[in-house]
Amino acid sequence: MTRKENTRVIYPGTFDPITNGHTSIIERASAIFGEVRVAIAGNPSKKTMFTLAERETFARVVTEHLENTSVSSFSGLLVDFAKQIDINILVRGLRTTADFEYENSLADVYRKIVPSMESVFLTPTNEKYRYLSSTIVREIAIHGGDTTPFVHTFVANALDRKRDQI
Ligand code: ADP
Repeated sequence: MTRKENTRVIYPGTFDPITNGHTSIIERASAIFGEVRVAIAGNPSKKTMFTLAERETFARVVTEHLENTSVSSFSGLLVDFAKQIDINILVRGLRTTADFEYENSLADVYRKIVPSMESVFLTPTNEKYRYLSSTIVREIAIHGGDTTPFVHTFVANALDRKRDQI
């Protein structure tokens, strides 16, 4: 596949923490597009387990091997951040029909605010990512389970340390 070298995309999310499912989407987006900007929400509506700085570090560690991928954080509206860095294509992951309902309405809202804003959806390539979410990973960690099948070792170690603090 030839990469669309001039096409830059944003992959936004909370990434609390970033999972192998997220990483798979980033790797595939980086093979399709010229530049992928992972954008971490600094002020999500939900309370996060990890600080913005921690979530950014995780994303940097897991994307180290991708030369056309970088990590930023943003606060405020995603569409404003997108405008600021001059990117009008968002990549989002679609696991289930529930994701579809949510992501579809989100894409509609973004398009209403910025008509040129496009959303591109990637579905998991592997069944094992279909039910994987940051929420599940946090639950496993809190209850003493092994998170290494689901996240990078660096993240799994951070989850272990976090559990010890609780
Ligand atoms: P948000 O809080 O904005 O929904 P998340 O950090 O939970 O952000 O996820 C960011 C994006 O990645 C969303 O589009 C979500 O649907 C997608 N995603 C999350 N987990 C997976 C996965 N296991 N496989 C594919 N896409 C995923």
